Amino acid sequence: MTASLYDLDPGQLQELVAEAGEPAYRARQLAHWLDERRQPDPRAMTNLPGSLRTRLAERFAGAGLALDRHQAGDHGWTHKFLFRLPGGDAVESVLMLYPAAGSGPGRATVCISTQAGCAMGCTFCATGQFGFTRHLSAGEVVEQVARVSTMLPELRPDPTAPDHLTNVVFMGMGEPFANPSATWGAAWRLHRGFGLSARAITISTVGLVPGIRRAAAEALPVNLAVSIHAADDALRDRLVPVNRTWPIAELLGAVREYVAATRRRVSFEYALMAGVNDDPAQGERLGRLLAPLRVPGSGGHAAHVNLIPYNPTPGSAFEAPSRAAARRFRAAVAVTGVPVSIRANRGVGIDAACGQLRTSAGRAGRTATLPLLDRPEEGS
Ligand code: SAH
Ligand code: SF4
Repeated sequence: MTASLYDLDPGQLQELVAEAGEPAYRARQLAHWLDERRQPDPRAMTNLPGSLRTRLAERFAGAGLALDRHQAGDHGWTHKFLFRLPGGDAVESVLMLYPAAGSGPGRATVCISTQAGCAMGCTFCATGQFGFTRHLSAGEVVEQVARVSTMLPELRPDPTAPDHLTNVVFMGMGEPFANPSATWGAAWRLHRGFGLSARAITISTVGLVPGIRRAAAEALPVNLAVSIHAADDALRDRLVPVNRTWPIAELLGAVREYVAATRRRVSFEYALMAGVNDDPAQGERLGRLLAPLRVPGSGGHAAHVNLIPYNPTPGSAFEAPSRAAARRFRAAVAVTGVPVSIRANRGVGIDAACGQLRTSAGRAGRTATLPLLDRPEEGS
C-alpha cells in the first residue's frame, strides 16, 4: 500500500492519471498541487476534474497522515501537531514561529519526525524511552511539512510572523540516519519539489558514523547537527548507548572527514542536565575536543555548540540545570574559543520541546500496548 501520495514518483503519477483515462498533463497538475501548493488532499485539487479527484480520494483513502490533534503554546508562536499514520501509529511535528526583527525576516521552522518512536534508547529522551514502533516512508516525512505548511497562514499569531515555511529541522521523533532512505528521499523532495534551499534544512543525528559519512557524500549540502551531550566516553555511554558502537573519537573522526569533504560547519547539540553533564570541567573538555575542527581554507571554527537546557519529562530521572549553571558551562566552552550558545526552549508548556515528543503519540497510537504517562496534558 502507498503510505502517502508523496511516495509516488513522477512516473507513478503518470500511470495513475493514465489508468483514470486522463491526459498526461493531469499528472503535472497533480505534481504541482503536491509540491508547489503542498496540498496532499486530492479533494482540494480544484483544477482537476471532479471524477479524478473522487477516484484519487477513494484509491488513497487511509493513506497519508490524518491530523489528530493540534495544540498551541507560547502565545501562538509554537504549535504541536499529532498526525496519525496509516496503520494506527502516530508522530508529532512542531511549528516554531519567530517574528521579523530589525531588518531580519521572520522564520517559520517545522520540526519533523522520521520514525514513530526511536530505537536508540538515549536514557534522558522521552522518545527513546518509548521505544521504536516503525520507520516513516519518505512521503510520510514530506507530508508533515506539506500539512503544516498549508495550515501556517491561519496559525500566525500576528502579522510579524512569516506566512510561509522558511526552515525544516529533522529533530522530531526518531533518528534520521537510522532511516536513511526516507531521510534523504524527503530532504531531496523538500529541496527539488518544495523549493527549500539545502541551507534551510537541518538533519540532527545522535552520531551514527555511517550516516555522517553519507551526509559528506550527498550532493545536497544540508546543515548537520550532532547530538553529543558529553565529552568523555564513560559519561556518553550512560546517556547515549550508541556511543558504545561509535565512541567519541570515532564520531569526531567522521565529523572531521565531513568537514574536510564539505567545508561546512557542524552544530553540536548538548542537552544540559543538572549534576549529570553540566560541570564546567566537561564544558572545557568539550571545547578542547571540538576546537581542532576547522573549516579548510578559512581556518575558522567548524564546530558550534548549542546548549539545550534539559526539558524534564514525566518519569525522567534528569533535571534542568539552573540558569547560572548553564551560563557557567557556556563560559567554560567559550574559554576554548569554540562558538557556543544557549538555545531558548520553545513549546515546553505543550510538551512540544526537544525530547518531549512522546506522550500524545502513545495515547493516539498503540495505546493498548505502550505505557502511558499519568500526567494530565494541557489542552486535553
Ligand atoms: N535523534 C536525533 C534527532 C531527534 S532528538 C538526535 O538525537 O539528534 C533532537 C534533540 O533533542 C537531540 O539533540 C536530543 O538529544 C535532544 N533531546 C532529547 N530529549 C531532550 C530533553 N528532554 N531535553 C532537551 N533536549 C532533549
Ligand atoms: Fe532517539 Fe534522538 Fe531521542 Fe536518542 S535523543 S533516543 S537518538 S530521538
